[in-house]
Amino acid sequence: MLKKELKELSDHCYEGRALPVWHMEVEPDSLKHVSGFLCDKGFHRVVMIHDTNTKQAAGDTLMEQLQGAGLHVQTVRAPENEHEQVTADERTIIQMFVQTPEQTDCLLAVGAGTIHDITRFVSAKMKIPFVSIPTAASVDGFTSKGAPLILDGVKRTVQAAAPIAVYADLNVLCSAPQEMAAAGFGDMAAKATSVFDWEISRLIAEEPYNEWASRAMHSAWSTCRKETKSIAQRDEKGIRILMESLLLSGLIMMTLDHSRPASGAEHHLSHYWELIFLKEGRRQKLHGAKTGVAAGVISDLYKRYLNDPEDLPVEDWVYKRRLEEHSESMKHWISEMPSSREIGELLRKVGGPALPEELGIGNELVQESLHQAHHLREHRHTGLKLLHLSGRGVPPYPFAQP
Ligand SMILES: [Zn+2]
Repeated sequence: MLKKELKELSDHCYEGRALPVWHMEVEPDSLKHVSGFLCDKGFHRVVMIHDTNTKQAAGDTLMEQLQGAGLHVQTVRAPENEHEQVTADERTIIQMFVQTPEQTDCLLAVGAGTIHDITRFVSAKMKIPFVSIPTAASVDGFTSKGAPLILDGVKRTVQAAAPIAVYADLNVLCSAPQEMAAAGFGDMAAKATSVFDWEISRLIAEEPYNEWASRAMHSAWSTCRKETKSIAQRDEKGIRILMESLLLSGLIMMTLDHSRPASGAEHHLSHYWELIFLKEGRRQKLHGAKTGVAAGVISDLYKRYLNDPEDLPVEDWVYKRRLEEHSESMKHWISEMPSSREIGELLRKVGGPALPEELGIGNELVQESLHQAHHLREHRHTGLKLLHLSGRGVPPYPFAQP
């Protein structure tokens, strides 16, 4: 699948230029090909960044192969917090800087989303290229440039570096816990609402837009949706499709230099929940598990309260005119969006949570996030922001049955 999409991606989103990711493969035994790539590029001193779990999942095997090829490998384990989780915060990042020698030729990110966020930041700041070795198909950030960091207790996405290569070993990905694949599926399910929010931001606020990217993102999600059974079984076909879709989503964000197609109001809810968990010192939930569940909440909201855009009580005449002009296409998009029930059933099928309460998120927090999350991205329009701007606001959660 990827070859055709990569060519089109370069043509439609990157002015025909070569992508900064020189090589990308999603194959069984991809780990075996990493040493050849590094030797080819003349990288002899490499630093592998991992955590306890990912060392076991892929790090140890990779280490043996790299040493067998005569490379000098140093490993740096990202510290875990009291919940045995790695956080991309100041403490972790400083440790990475201290432990990474300046004479390093290349960094290897061996892990899932957070290990990649840490590595891409260190890579950008130390000006050392990095290779992505995902250990689970759990998130779409592997190939993007954005590194969400927790700085002074607040989440901030910093533009950092994209990997120069991705070696996604299907044997490793298929052996990862089911909740990781379910989270990856949840990050793709988020596209059911994020692509609509991108349409809103274009139609109502004239924000940057790219038609090919919108279609590609929508079709990647549709493909994953058809493969729920094989993703649930974690077979090679399903995990390959999921991983390729996640990689494509990251590349679209990277080439456009913004995350609009992949991240709408459902991501803003998820970020808000994450910040509250952080404040309360709670164990974090997987990013994709939250965005999938949040997509269900947002779909429910839009289908019930945003399906008559021309009647929204908007005062600003520019908005009013644009809403009237585009109400038919907005209604069409909303009708095409899977319902919260459908999204929930798909999430359950792949073994993930479907409702906020299953993530330990109570109705009060959902309600609070529906009121506050649109402030997290002041300059990004979404259906949720539109409801607030129009003065209609959001109804109490859980929403009343129609
Ligand atoms: Zn995401």
